[in-house]
Amino acid sequence: MTGRVLVVNCGSSSLKYRLVDVAAGEALAWGLAERVGQPSGRLTHSRPGRPPDVVEQPLPDHAEALAAALAAFQRRGPALADAGLVAVAHRVVHGGDRFSAPVLVDDAVLRAIRELATLAPLHNPVNAVGIEVARRTFPGLPHVAVFDTAFHATLPPSAYTYAVPPQWAHDHGVRRYGFHGTSHAFVSRAAAEFLGRPVAEVNSVVLHLGNGASATAVAGGRSVDTSMGMTPLEGLVMGTRSGDVDPAVVAHLHRVAGLGPEEVDRALNSSSGMLALAGSNDLREVHRRIADGDDAAALALEVFCHRLRKYVGAYLAVLGRTDAIAFTGGIGENDPVVRARSLAGLERLGIRLDEERNAAREPGARRVSADDSPVAVLVVPTDEELEMARQTVALLDGHQRDEGRPGSQ
Ligand code: AMP
Repeated sequence: MTGRVLVVNCGSSSLKYRLVDVAAGEALAWGLAERVGQPSGRLTHSRPGRPPDVVEQPLPDHAEALAAALAAFQRRGPALADAGLVAVAHRVVHGGDRFSAPVLVDDAVLRAIRELATLAPLHNPVNAVGIEVARRTFPGLPHVAVFDTAFHATLPPSAYTYAVPPQWAHDHGVRRYGFHGTSHAFVSRAAAEFLGRPVAEVNSVVLHLGNGASATAVAGGRSVDTSMGMTPLEGLVMGTRSGDVDPAVVAHLHRVAGLGPEEVDRALNSSSGMLALAGSNDLREVHRRIADGDDAAALALEVFCHRLRKYVGAYLAVLGRTDAIAFTGGIGENDPVVRARSLAGLERLGIRLDEERNAAREPGARRVSADDSPVAVLVVPTDEELEMARQTVALLDGHQRDEGRPGSQ
């Protein structure tokens, strides 16, 4: 697996990029365009070991944001023309049940991504814009779409089927898809590597805890259950999303408070979760408030950890035998209190944290459980961009092999 891949991740008002050397597993440069489409914008371009290059300039749309990124590459390097770029990889949030693996983008794929906007109205349209812009900018390179949902294509029907009228699934795609797939794929493989065992033999529970949060049960490298659902709203308590709530809440609020479904949907996605309960969606701030005696913040953390513990228990049951629990994401990697609270009292289930290891701050994958803990508890920093770049190069390698096969054209 060799080559350098430009990984692009378009959000509604942002564009993130990373130039990845796949063989070395390293980022050569990365950047963020912020406030795209707003009167004032900013581009931050970074390279390892150098101060970031920050330019304040209006970025009226994603085309201008990408142009600003390319200008930064020219100004501060590395020169993209000599970088040995083999492809551009694009993060696409929803692949529905059409895409179970990364695909080379052509016009039909782009159309399909747009059609899937019914399932991800906030994400897929802007992901498609990013692809369009980058295809115009790099017409000679293959463009690959990597889907957040793809890793969960292995969910069994028992895990992805909602107990609702089947026409809803058939006509409108109402089922569990799951998200954060590139992270769950990367972390479950890295956990197996850390344990020195083949991926196919390792069962793990991956807890991706960032501003968005999801848990996945991974059996032998395959996702068999995951907490996010048809959209990223279901499951764990998140920064601004509620996670699980009784769906009857929507009709209730309509009846008693006159709130429309769109309004409730927006509130459940954007002004719920830790932000609603603690007044901040940043766990560092939540801890500060708790230290200052804020009872609401203390309850918020309890709710967060209780939900997490429930999912851990559920996935231990789903897997039957669990080798590892892997924490990742901004919270999972950095918050020893969340790790300790969510796993406290689970010794009978084979989970024994080591207090000192858990409290230590070290880079890289590490064990935070006691040596005699039957289930290894690990902290595994995620690297979604590296995973996307790897999957992209693997796809291209596969295509090249296919083209070299007798009878192929
Ligand atoms: P992510 O979405 O993975 O980038 O994670 C972002 C979130 O990680 C932030 O909103 C914080 O809640 C959390 N976070 C980052 N650093 C820390 C830390 N040192 N301790 C606790 N939480 C952290």
